[in-house]
Amino acid sequence: MGTMVEVRRDLKKYFKTPKGLLHAVDGINFEIEKGKTLGIVGESGCGKSTLGRVILRLLEPTDGEIFFEGNDITDIDSSTLKKVRKDMQMIFQDPFSSLNPRITVSEIISEPIHIYRTCKDSKELGKKVTELMDTVGLARRLQNTYPHELDGGRRQRIGIARALALNPKFIVCDEPVSSLDVSIQAQILNLMMDLQDEKKLTYMFITHNLSVVKHISDDIGVMYLGNMVEKCPSDMLFERNYHPYTKALLSAIPKVNIDAPRNRILLKGEISSPINPKPGCRFAPRCIYAKPECFNNQPELLEIEQEHFVACHLVGEINNI
Ligand code: SF4
Repeated sequence: MGTMVEVRRDLKKYFKTPKGLLHAVDGINFEIEKGKTLGIVGESGCGKSTLGRVILRLLEPTDGEIFFEGNDITDIDSSTLKKVRKDMQMIFQDPFSSLNPRITVSEIISEPIHIYRTCKDSKELGKKVTELMDTVGLARRLQNTYPHELDGGRRQRIGIARALALNPKFIVCDEPVSSLDVSIQAQILNLMMDLQDEKKLTYMFITHNLSVVKHISDDIGVMYLGNMVEKCPSDMLFERNYHPYTKALLSAIPKVNIDAPRNRILLKGEISSPINPKPGCRFAPRCIYAKPECFNNQPELLEIEQEHFVACHLVGEINNI
């Protein structure tokens, strides 16, 4: 299939703040194969949304390289970037605030088509908009309604239709179902998976919810304070997970069988500051296994079994491997 996106040479994004440099993304490397989904999971503020925006070049990286279909897009000029952006789109978390409330559904969906002039006249544009609405399951009668007249699920369908308007190859989905009711979440996830099959899309799916990402992802990367701490195929992560932070995240997933034992790991201790971070493992202040070496040296993300990468000095000792 080949690689759609490759992030290498320790991608970084730092922001200047009055208190110092905020290390939002700090040394990330991965690849996403064409037609596959990489789920990125972590708590709010771990840098996962910033990572998505840096990959799309909506934010400039501080260091590292981004390749799209084998081409280095890290430093390309704005006209080349505009061409590449046609193939790379984003679906946002909050469909309400990401949609212009003053224009109709049809105008929202057609906006990217106007910008890129991909339709030759208004007749072709109208046909394209109705096709997109059909594709995402939006009734055609809603064309002239405004976002505030619709529920969250329909608003997110508008966001998806808009993202599909230019026939992209790669979509960063930033918490696309987090603000929706659980029943609607399933509908939107199913729609996204159907669209992926049909249009051979590649996704990067960002979420704080591991149970959501399980269904849609081929691979999962777990992020903590700007670092990737564990990465492997999705099924493998739910069978065998080795990083103490991943274990805590997984233990928080509600179980269907209320009689089943639930060993929830409650994280204690302060979250370290991402501003001028101290040396060592960023998870150390909350890790029950932390030893002095954890506070001095940052662990590297190493392959501990085929396709399974973990960043923890004590991974062998903690997991008896
Ligand atoms: Fe915990 Fe140390 Fe592993 Fe970090 S390196 S996760 S502090 S055991």
